[in-house]
Amino acid sequence: MIVTLSETAAILASAQRVVITAHGNPDGDAIGSSLGLMHILRSLGKDARVLLDDDIPAIFAVLPGYDIIGRPSAEEEPLEADLVVVLDTSTDRTGCTLQAVKAPHLLNIDHHQTNDASAEYTYVAPARAATAEIIYDLTRELPVKMTKDMAMCIYTGLATDTGFFRFSNTTSHTMRAAAEMLDLGVEPNVISESLEQKPYKTVRDIGEAISMTKMFADGHAAGIFLDEATTARMQSTEAFIGMIRVIQGVDIAVVLKVKEKDICRVSMRSKGIDVSRIALQFGGGGHTRAAGCTLLMPFEDAKRTICEAIVKAIREHQDAQTKRENP
Ligand code: AMP
Ligand code: MN
Ligand code: MN
Repeated sequence: MIVTLSETAAILASAQRVVITAHGNPDGDAIGSSLGLMHILRSLGKDARVLLDDDIPAIFAVLPGYDIIGRPSAEEEPLEADLVVVLDTSTDRTGCTLQAVKAPHLLNIDHHQTNDASAEYTYVAPARAATAEIIYDLTRELPVKMTKDMAMCIYTGLATDTGFFRFSNTTSHTMRAAAEMLDLGVEPNVISESLEQKPYKTVRDIGEAISMTKMFADGHAAGIFLDEATTARMQSTEAFIGMIRVIQGVDIAVVLKVKEKDICRVSMRSKGIDVSRIALQFGGGGHTRAAGCTLLMPFEDAKRTICEAIVKAIREHQDAQTKRENP
């Protein structure tokens, strides 16, 4: 059932024990919006905690509450709560969290246009740059006094999902929300310096990955394709896509890596072509300009499959453009 922002606030207000979770391979928005909401609910006297079924990168240690993020266990007795809140994804990408918690109600808050609205209550706002921006909206619906701790978490979600306020999803509302977070004491450099830190090896890996870049679709697409052995050698591949997204003439950038044998993870970025539609074809999702999916096939098959889908999307986009120019 789709709910409004004020209904979302009312659902949160009526629960006492709240478990908050988000997608695996958590990013700044998943972690920032989760911890932000946790601080907000705790300030309202609730028993709120964050459970994430994945490792939390140490760069997020700058965020208040990082140390108390829990990891759900499907083996232990389920944790009892009044409400589970899933943030920044549909309910499917939450690992074992939903099995590890027993709660009568499930609320999903997200900004992905591909959200499947499968939760009991779903609030989706695709016009918001980050789930953290929706958490900010909720602070105006709840009787909460904002603190620096909340602001640091919300600011991190806003900043990371907008490429530090550079991407097309950045709106004046995003900037106003961020400005309020600065008024509450957030120091942007403290957040960015922490998030940008990389081990020396990762910087070397970025160099190696860039040198592996393949151009295709007549220069309209660029990809980095990491087979199983290469993926295993590299600690972090997060930064790769941003490096090739900037190549002149490239409409779609893609990074494919082999997570495990026959499990290939794909990240895509575009300058306008809807890559969430490509991701949806393979059971993934995301936004127009940033999307991802997982292909359950061997490396070479996955590489061919995603490249064909990208070439097709680019061709369709070009055909539509030609039709618009010569009706
Ligand atoms: P990534 O390339 O992993 O940074 O993801 C880009 C965007 O697509 C993010 O907003 C993700 O949350 C979303 N996304 C990535 N993978 C999936 C998936 N399997 N299902 C739904 N959304 C996804
Ligand atoms: Mn996310
Ligand atoms: Mn997000």
